[in-house]
Amino acid sequence: MTQVTTADFHTHTTLSDGSLTAWELLLQAKRLQKTHIAVTDHDALQPASTFAEGDYLGVKVIPAIEFSARDTKRNRRLHILCYAYKKPEILLPLCLATCRSRSVVSLKMLTRLKEHFPLSDEFVLKYSTGSAAVYKWNIVSALYELGMLGETKGKQYTDVFGYDGICGDLIKEEMAGYPSAETVIDVIHEAGGLAVLAHPFQYNSTEFLEETAAAGDLDGVEVDHPSATDEQKTELIDTAKRHGLFKTGGSDFHGIYNHYPTGLLGKRHPYQDGFDRIVSN
Ligand SMILES: [Zn+2]
Ligand SMILES: [Zn+2]
Repeated sequence: MTQVTTADFHTHTTLSDGSLTAWELLLQAKRLQKTHIAVTDHDALQPASTFAEGDYLGVKVIPAIEFSARDTKRNRRLHILCYAYKKPEILLPLCLATCRSRSVVSLKMLTRLKEHFPLSDEFVLKYSTGSAAVYKWNIVSALYELGMLGETKGKQYTDVFGYDGICGDLIKEEMAGYPSAETVIDVIHEAGGLAVLAHPFQYNSTEFLEETAAAGDLDGVEVDHPSATDEQKTELIDTAKRHGLFKTGGSDFHGIYNHYPTGLLGKRHPYQDGFDRIVSN
């Protein structure tokens, strides 16, 4: 199964919950001899400068967004990647609505966490500078830098942000503010983009994948992701084949906020069919 090793189609920057700016990310991609990068910040449109910086460095930036969504049938969160969109103005209202509701919930988290930790608004919000919203990870960054979380993912993190943690009810409230998966897929198609289900094994979205793919609503599936074992990748490749989906892949790079120790920039790749379809869209 051929993969395009000079491409990484899943990365994050300081526009959402990554720790590198787009420029820093693209410089690193160039050093790693990547030719194509999709910057897939959560619910946020890349500014024109990201594409210009990529052109300057000789790294083609693919227009992309990772949308937060709800599987309304199973009441689970999902991530849906949008690639190679043509009309960003169609995507913007959805991005703004999700960012607005996310910021409202993040500020509630901050208010609550001030009862448990010596935090100030000023200290936490400096991590949101340049971000499309106040992301939970901006709060995590502040707690981490102050030495109040031993590591960015671990027991202390779960005690605060897990479903049973201090902010558990607010994590659920954040999800309730996400648009339905159907809405997200419709808007992506209206904008001329391609809809790809991200990391189906991370949020247990395989039933959703099967149903949505059978209905012909999805264009592709993310196969090569740090959350998937080799066995799970084989299963996803089979699902893609049965439903005529193209296959993508990416590192889900978040810099120091990587969710997986193996989420190294440029180490996960799209398959040839997904690469060709996205690049030629
Ligand atoms: Zn994701
Ligand atoms: Zn991601």
